Amino acid sequence: MGRTRLVAGNWKMHGSRKANRGLLEEVTKAVAQVRGVECAVCVPYPYLGEVAEQLKGTTVAWGAQNVSEHAQGAYTGEVSAVMLAEFGCRYVIVGHSERRQLYGESDAQAAAKFAAVKAAGMAPILCLGETLQERDAGKTEEVVARQLDRVLEKNSFETAVLAYEPVWAIGTGRNATPEQAQAVHAFLRKRVPEKTAILYGGSVKPQNAPAIFAMPDVDGGLIGGASLAAKDFVDIVKAAYVKA
Ligand code: PEP
Repeated sequence: MGRTRLVAGNWKMHGSRKANRGLLEEVTKAVAQVRGVECAVCVPYPYLGEVAEQLKGTTVAWGAQNVSEHAQGAYTGEVSAVMLAEFGCRYVIVGHSERRQLYGESDAQAAAKFAAVKAAGMAPILCLGETLQERDAGKTEEVVARQLDRVLEKNSFETAVLAYEPVWAIGTGRNATPEQAQAVHAFLRKRVPEKTAILYGGSVKPQNAPAIFAMPDVDGGLIGGASLAAKDFVDIVKAAYVKA
């Protein structure tokens, strides 16, 4: 044992000041009773300050969904890692498949962002995963190894979190089976320090979370859609608890 168990919500581009407040009120109250599982929410930039205030003194941490790979300068619209750290940000999602697919983020960019997050003293949550086409072509291991190796070339993994997120399972309602997740997690496990938490992400719901989280190399989840509903999210956090 000894690896951190973590459930992190990825709100994506959802929320409002009112909705966030209500959601976090419910989540913080319920999660305060949960032992042995860390819980975090990764929220859109404009809400970070307010969410940080609301989460002070609770057991829920907060993070961002993206960051610039640059330290500062003429990068209109970008946010640096140091800016996030200044507010007490703990986690930053790096290399999410939506960033890779919709915004053309490369493996090299994800690696540079990863480095920036670590240099600012925060924990990157590095996302990687294959498309359906790549899985069908038997290339899952090759793809995730390439994505990870690009980061490992220039970075040590200590303090970072890994999230295996098959692209075909994100927001589709179609999750990897526990065995499919376990196979990739076991493959990744050999490439990162033993203590690294490896999360599964892709249509995790309260119904499928217990079986996925019971796999020996699955240390929790990165949760999109279900993190927007307090009860679902809390039930998923509870499902990540395993008796020592
Ligand atoms: C995600 O966006 O990281 C994710 C896993 O989304 P969903 O849970 O909605 O599939």
